This record gives sequence, structure tokens and C-alpha cells, in this order.
Amino acid sequence: MELTLWTYEGPPHVGAMRIATSMEGVHYVLHAPQGDTYADLLFTMIERRGRRPPVTYTTFQARDLGGDTADLVIRTIRQAVDRFQPEALLVGESCTAELIQDQPGALAGGMDLGVPMVNLELPAYSKKENWGAAETFYQLVRTLLKAQLPAPGTPKPSPSRWREEGRRPRVNLLGPSLLGFRCRDDVLEITRLLGEHGIDVAVVAPLGARPADLLRIPTADANVCLYPEVAGPVCSWLERSFGTPVVRSVPIGIGATADFLRELHAVLDLALPADLETVEGQPSEAERRSRLPWYSKSVDSTYLTGKRVFIFADATHAIAAARIASRELGFQVVGLGSYSREQAREVRAAAAELGLEALITDDYLVVEKAMAEAAAELVLGTQMERHSAKRLGLPCAVISAPLHVQDVPARYSPQMGWEGANVIFDSWVHPLMMGLEEHLIGMFRHDFEFVDGHRSHLGDGAPASASASTAPSPEEASATSTAVATAAAPAAGTITAAVAVREALESLWTADGEAELAKIPFFVRGKVRKNTEAFARERGLERIDAEALYDAKAHFSR
Ligand code: SF4
Repeated sequence: MELTLWTYEGPPHVGAMRIATSMEGVHYVLHAPQGDTYADLLFTMIERRGRRPPVTYTTFQARDLGGDTADLVIRTIRQAVDRFQPEALLVGESCTAELIQDQPGALAGGMDLGVPMVNLELPAYSKKENWGAAETFYQLVRTLLKAQLPAPGTPKPSPSRWREEGRRPRVNLLGPSLLGFRCRDDVLEITRLLGEHGIDVAVVAPLGARPADLLRIPTADANVCLYPEVAGPVCSWLERSFGTPVVRSVPIGIGATADFLRELHAVLDLALPADLETVEGQPSEAERRSRLPWYSKSVDSTYLTGKRVFIFADATHAIAAARIASRELGFQVVGLGSYSREQAREVRAAAAELGLEALITDDYLVVEKAMAEAAAELVLGTQMERHSAKRLGLPCAVISAPLHVQDVPARYSPQMGWEGANVIFDSWVHPLMMGLEEHLIGMFRHDFEFVDGHRSHLGDGAPASASASTAPSPEEASATSTAVATAAAPAAGTITAAVAVREALESLWTADGEAELAKIPFFVRGKVRKNTEAFARERGLERIDAEALYDAKAHFSR
């Protein structure tokens, strides 16, 4: 048992629903108790789809458990096939149905339905939503392409066969799905980008594809694995079984988009366009087409340099964000983590490059604590981190699922490609206090309106924490998260100890020490407080006055 208040991912059958609902002509029969239809709302409200997901639930009730639930499954499958006439059928079970072991897939297998059927075995107690989506997509593609599998020993097709066939090269875009982050616009952006390079898109899947489209997957010269969380297993299988090469660079950010295009050209044996050539480590001409490099170089962005950023997201978006933050925006990444256990190795490697240890967890309280301890000035995360950052009074931008309805915007807002980089620049910088205001508040601290921590461009007042004389130190913040944790499972000892430590530290500060601390801009004050207290403890100081604060400052800036 694990006490859980918020969860980053739903159960795996929600992942299967994402595949079915992203596609056309696929129907999903889900053996599930009455009430599981809640998942429909993810699609009708968050994704704002104008029709119900193509899912038929058996919706068994307590009284059904005394009878023949297997018969209910058979009836439901028959009715769904008759009514919806799908081109392919998925059959699976939710968590509760897994316990009663009716094996709906096996039942469907014995029914002679006349359509391709995939029996989904999704272990709800050990796997989660993204795994469920990847497994469903993989099993569906595998089932449909069974008849096309090349005989063992067949030579791999050449990725440059397009040349012999006198046509443009073509690739599949695999992985975009509903409830993925900005998939709708990423597909448009990447399709346009490929078109500019003379590359066609054969199949986009699962988003918008029909089973008949999946049958065309092997006709492409390469597979672009746009979202490894969903398409990783299927791309590897296609590579093993059909010899189709996979482009694995994910084009989020300027450098990553350029790398993606270079990898794609190499895989397809296409000449690299001159504008993608790099000269002496300078960005290529293509990389300058996005406004991000110039915007981040322009003098207004100078104050962004070295801002401490904490990143927590799905693996794909976390890794991409870390690269953009550290190499393209000049931020200092002070925390990097992900809830995607399947891609933990990649996240660890990206963190190691930045001299960090990756945080791999699906416990948002652990993330919130790490966020506070890192004394971050900006948080890039999921919907959960938005809540945590709000509690800690930190600016935050959402970069990954799980998402809320405002992250499915009406306007064009990709994350991928050159335009995606423009969108990223705007959305990450927006929550920060603007340079002039930051400077002025640092100089004049007694304004009645532009108070400490105020971000007037957001139209709100000061963050809650800034109305006090100092922003919460990491210790205070972690005490907050401990408090949240213990609210659910009271452990009075822990919270009392945290408060005692905080009080002991606070009593060290003299009035002039506090006054000097209050002069530090609010977004770095927590860090300065923490450093000074550590310095005082180390030296055995009995008081922290202004002098001790400046000694600590000199010590840490050495
Ligand atoms: S079966 Fe699973 S998804 Fe459905 S209500 Fe129970 S725990 Fe939730």
C-alpha cells in the first residue's frame, strides 16, 4: 500500500484509452466497474473533444459479482462490435476487473468477431498510463502488421530506397496522442519542417490514424520516434522486424531541432543543407531562424543568466528542458527529475551531464521538498509542480503532462521545431519578474504597490510568501511539505522537530542581520538565508548579524 493523494499517471487502461481515442475506427471494450466512465471526461473536458471516446464499458456492479460476469463481457463485446463496426478492436480490463480474472481478451478471442482483435494485458498494479499507452500501441501495430512480417533472412530495406524509386523520402511520425503535451501542434510543426526539407510524412500515429494507416507503416523509409514514452517500444520492434531505422532525437529546443534534422538527413542519406552546417561551434544558420537564440542573447535577457531552475516532468520533456535551460537560456539547472521510470536511465544521464543526481519518483511531496531544498527561482514541471510552486511562492511554467485544461490551448502552441522554441521562450520567461521590476524592487523597497516579490505583469500581487519580511527558506519550505505529508498521515514528532529546528535557527538572527537579509532580492533570499545559517552552524556562531551575513556571502562566493 502507498498513501497517494496525487498521481502523475493514471492506470494503464487510461493509456490504452488514449490510443483508442486518438485513432479513428478503433473501439475498446473495457471490463470495468460502474464508475470507471470518469475517464471519458479526460477527453471530453481536458482535450475538449466533441464526441465520446470509442470505449464501451461493461460497468459491472456489486450485484453482478454474484452472477456470471464473463457472460456480461461476451454480451458487451458483441453489442459493441455490432453497434460501432470497428476496423480493429481492443479488449482489456481495469484494475478491479483484473482481480476477478474473467480474461475478456481470451473470451473475445473465441468469438469469431470478424475484425482484428488485440487482447490487452495491462498489469494495473505495477504499471501506469504511459506504459499502458506504449504497450497498446505496440500490440495493435504488431497485430495488424503480422501478415506483412518479412521472412527471416530478408535483407533490410535501404533507407535511401526513395532515390531508386524516384520519389521523395517519407517517414512516419510515431507517438503523438491525446493527453500528450501539445501533440496536436507538434505534429503540424514537424510536418511543416519536414516538408521544407523535401521529406514527406507517410503515417502519423496513433493521433488521427485508422487501422488501415497502420498497415502502411512499413512503407516509410524511417520512423521518427517523437514521443518515446508512447512510441519507444513500437519503433524498436519495427526496427528489429522490418529493419526500419529510427530517428530518436526529439526536436524540442533549438539545438535538439538541429540535431533532429541532422540525424534525419543522415538516416535518409540526404545531403545536409548548408544552413544546418556548424562552423566553429557557432549555431548554424537554421538555428538562427527561431527567435529564441536572439531573444535569449538580447540584453533584456541578461538578468535571466544563472537563474536557478528546477525541472520535473516526463522524461522526454524533462531532458529537452534541461538542455534548453542550460545551453540556450543560460539558466542554472539545480534539479532535474522525472516520474517516467521506464526512461530513468536517460534522465540520469542528462542530470549527470549537469553535475546533478536525477530525482526519479512519482511522489509529488518528494518533488516539492526537492524543489524547496534546491532554492529554485523558476520551476518547470507538470500540473502538480504548478501547485507545489504556488505553495512555495515560486514562478512556474508547465512543460509536460499531466496537464490541465489550460494546457490544451485554442491557439497554435507547439513545443517542437523552431516555432516550438519561440513558444517555449515566451512561456518560460513569462512567470518571472521582469528585469526592470526586479531591479527597481531591489533598489527601492518601500513602495506601497510594487512590494517585495510583486510581479506586476502577471496582474497579481506579491507571492504569498513575499508579504512576510523574508521568503521561506528551504528549511521552512520543507517543513511546509512535511506538514502537507503529515496532514495525511499525522506524525507529530516530525513536524515538531522541524519547527524546533526552524525556531532555533531563527533565534540566531539579530535585528540588523534580518534587516540586511531583507535587502536581498526575494527570489534569492531563501538561498542566502540557508547559506548563512549553514555558515553560522559550521563556525559555531551564536548570532547572525549583518557582519556574519557578509562573511558568509564572501565565503560562498569564493
Ligand atoms: S478500477 Fe481502477 S480506475 Fe477504476 S475506479 Fe477502480 S481503481 Fe479506479
